[in-house]
Amino acid sequence: MKKSKPLKILFASSEVAPFAKTGGLADVSGSLPSALASLGHQVVVVMPLYRSVMEGPYELKSIEGALEIPYRGRVLKDKAFYSELEPNLSVCFIRKNEFFDRSMLYRTPEGDYFDNADRFIYFSRGILNLSKLISFKPDIIHCNDWQTSLVPSYLKSLYMYDAFFESARTILTIHNLAYQGIFPAEYMAVSGLPAEFYSLNGFEFYGQMNFLKGGIVFADVITTVSEKYSLEIQTPEFGYGLEGILKGRSSDVHGVLNGVDYREWNPETDPHIITNYNEKDLSGKKRCKKDLIKDFKLKGSEKAPLIGIISRLASQKGFDILAEAVDTLMELGFLIVLLGTGDEIYEKQFAEIGKKHKGRFGVKIAFDNALAHKIEAGADMFLMPSRYEPCGLNQMYSLKYGTIPVVRATGGLDDTINEFDPKTGNGNGFKFAKYSSQALIKEMKRALEVYRSPELWLKLVKVCMREDFSWERSARRYEKIYQGSLAKK
Ligand code: ADP
Repeated sequence: MKKSKPLKILFASSEVAPFAKTGGLADVSGSLPSALASLGHQVVVVMPLYRSVMEGPYELKSIEGALEIPYRGRVLKDKAFYSELEPNLSVCFIRKNEFFDRSMLYRTPEGDYFDNADRFIYFSRGILNLSKLISFKPDIIHCNDWQTSLVPSYLKSLYMYDAFFESARTILTIHNLAYQGIFPAEYMAVSGLPAEFYSLNGFEFYGQMNFLKGGIVFADVITTVSEKYSLEIQTPEFGYGLEGILKGRSSDVHGVLNGVDYREWNPETDPHIITNYNEKDLSGKKRCKKDLIKDFKLKGSEKAPLIGIISRLASQKGFDILAEAVDTLMELGFLIVLLGTGDEIYEKQFAEIGKKHKGRFGVKIAFDNALAHKIEAGADMFLMPSRYEPCGLNQMYSLKYGTIPVVRATGGLDDTINEFDPKTGNGNGFKFAKYSSQALIKEMKRALEVYRSPELWLKLVKVCMREDFSWERSARRYEKIYQGSLAKK
């Protein structure tokens, strides 16, 4: 395919797999830069130097010189580090131990860290100064979520006349609009941004400073992680108060579906599962199911339909309707395994449900990447009853593992999954529209009916395993968006 002019892309993210991860943002930040590098672009990813990076098996090299970052009236100096991943791709790490040498990224189960605003103001200033320190003059600065949302406004104020950034365009990707980074108005002064940026068409949001809102106002382009979600967020139901400001910029808002990193999520090569398998020989999938049943100490028959769930335990993910549906799903003969961490209320509720249905509903409250892979491989179906879902990755991982997604029709789930029609053989999963336990149960019954017809099920499994959601297509869309914003100059 035709190669376009190579760009210098500075990709800023607060989490990047495998270095640090709480959710999908890390997966995207771990694989999109690599896909862009494969298209010939030069990519530098910037993230904080968390404890998990320092304690991990990574070889970090020290960047020459000191990184200077203005913060609360002083200029702080510290070392920065890098790791070269591929010829055109490296990751840089900004160190400030008092901010980032912690056990978690943003919060403990008791709540958010009290100084998150300081931590990410510091990080955002650091991103720009680091690119100068390493003499990486970016064409594109790609920011992600509220943690890096101040960068576009810095470029339009403190760095406005800095020749180093004169040709840089900014893009902000929203991975989840519900997390906006809202802090007391006093943080405007801490950020060093001009006071006039604290306005209705700036950072001000009901008397507070909203980082993401500032990003949306000042970025040259805004993207979100599926077409459907890009439209949903412009409505009051999904806009979390920012629908007006997004609608005002709708010609600059694009939806680009996330891709799957098949180097990481592929049953043929997955090192975490007991037996590898592919579409031509599915006997390995049976062994994976057996292994999963053993892991969770389930007692049902190996023939029983096994549902997998891997998720942050947050209200977004549909756990209230799932909790209501559990007894009926158990009566219908399903086995369920759930892996998740998050809100205490759901952690407790599902630990109880696990006790009540011991041997049929396995619950593990943990963040466990290897187990996540085993669930993808061992389950028959994968359930995502989300209230809203910007993109969702596990439904796409599930397809590759021949694990049939059952999803609610919202955001990226709606864009990627089509209802299976037993008559025509079209479709790649099961999808329900109404956010209710009844609708969920009805859809699970539909899936069960197909499951009970092994030939039909096998056909569906094979269709799913052949689907391709690799990053290349999405990376090309980002490339177009980058070029479009540079052309607008
Ligand atoms: P979100 O970013 O809203 O959490 P996504 O579907 O975009 O949801 O991405 C979730 C990612 O995090 C997937 O890679 C999923 O496998 C992983 N994940 C979520 N919870 C866990 C967990 N408890 N253990 C391991 N991996 C998890």
